Amino acid sequence: MEEIVCNLHNHTIYSDGTGDYTHIAQEALKADVDVVIITDHNVRVKGMERYVEENDRRVLILTGEEVHDQDRMPQKNHMLVFGLEREVAQFAYDPQKLIDQVNRSGGLTFLAHPYEYALPLFNETDITWESWEVEGFTGIELWNGFSEFKTVVRNMRQAIMYAFVPQRIPHQPLPQALAKWDELLTGGRQVTAVAGSDSHALNYRAVFFRKTIFPYRYHFSTLNNHLLVQSPLTGKISHDREMIYQALGKGASFIGYDLPASTRGFIFTAENNETTASMGDELNLESGATLRIKLPQKAFLRLIHNGIPIFEAGNMDHLAKTINKSGAYRVEAYLDFLGKKRGWIFSNPIYVRKVRR
Ligand SMILES: [Zn+2]
Ligand SMILES: [Zn+2]
Repeated sequence: MEEIVCNLHNHTIYSDGTGDYTHIAQEALKADVDVVIITDHNVRVKGMERYVEENDRRVLILTGEEVHDQDRMPQKNHMLVFGLEREVAQFAYDPQKLIDQVNRSGGLTFLAHPYEYALPLFNETDITWESWEVEGFTGIELWNGFSEFKTVVRNMRQAIMYAFVPQRIPHQPLPQALAKWDELLTGGRQVTAVAGSDSHALNYRAVFFRKTIFPYRYHFSTLNNHLLVQSPLTGKISHDREMIYQALGKGASFIGYDLPASTRGFIFTAENNETTASMGDELNLESGATLRIKLPQKAFLRLIHNGIPIFEAGNMDHLAKTINKSGAYRVEAYLDFLGKKRGWIFSNPIYVRKVRR
């Protein structure tokens, strides 16, 4: 298995970000990421996908899209769309239609910032996902960098403090997003979780200072998706893009908050007598199965079955546990960083099914 680090949900000058593709590529080369996916608002920018290289580093820049109905007030139901060659923003008025259109063309849909509340201080409105009746979407953006900022900032003093020390912001996915994900999983659905930067690199000017708030490089070192694929990236865009979207779609991945410590090397598998499954896979449960977890370093570890923690302990770097119940199993790990316990790793589930013979 190869591990590829993918940072997604980034805005450029083609919508409301301040950086162009060239700037973003340069910033990505300085961080420990392999792939960056751009998702501008309601525009799929054509002809910009590229590999960039510098010394022994190589980064792939891909283009997706963040689609939402601009006539809708308030502005809810934002959708991240990946893997399409065509524009689908014209279907934004009906989220189910949008999902169906994307599925028909073999693309992926993730409900963006499913919970993101208003921040009146900056005229930011509530853009929570509302149309939960939709079906057939790939997954949800479980952890969004900007949603969290809007939740923790309550006044200008805090806003300035976080702008200067952005690494104090990330704590964990919003509890509402985690609860919703568990609810969907427990209902028997396969729902892939991703983390999104929602980067804009906004330029903020005040009387005494001028500052880029949350520059791209900060984001590329912060909330990433670690994809597990069969073979290394080849340098051929069409081949690599397909491999990346396959892993993202299936949930052969975990979310890593890479700023406190790199999450590279995390392993979560389940094995029965015949085979070994990893994140995003289904495993048949016959007589039983064994889950195996390996963390890159010691941390607080939690194992969750259908939304209920079945194991948790601090100072752990591995665990083997036998199971005999079907359902969705997933892993969370937490680290102490800047005086607080913070979410570090959130795995996608392994779906354990009872076989009927
Ligand atoms: Zn959005
Ligand atoms: Zn966005």
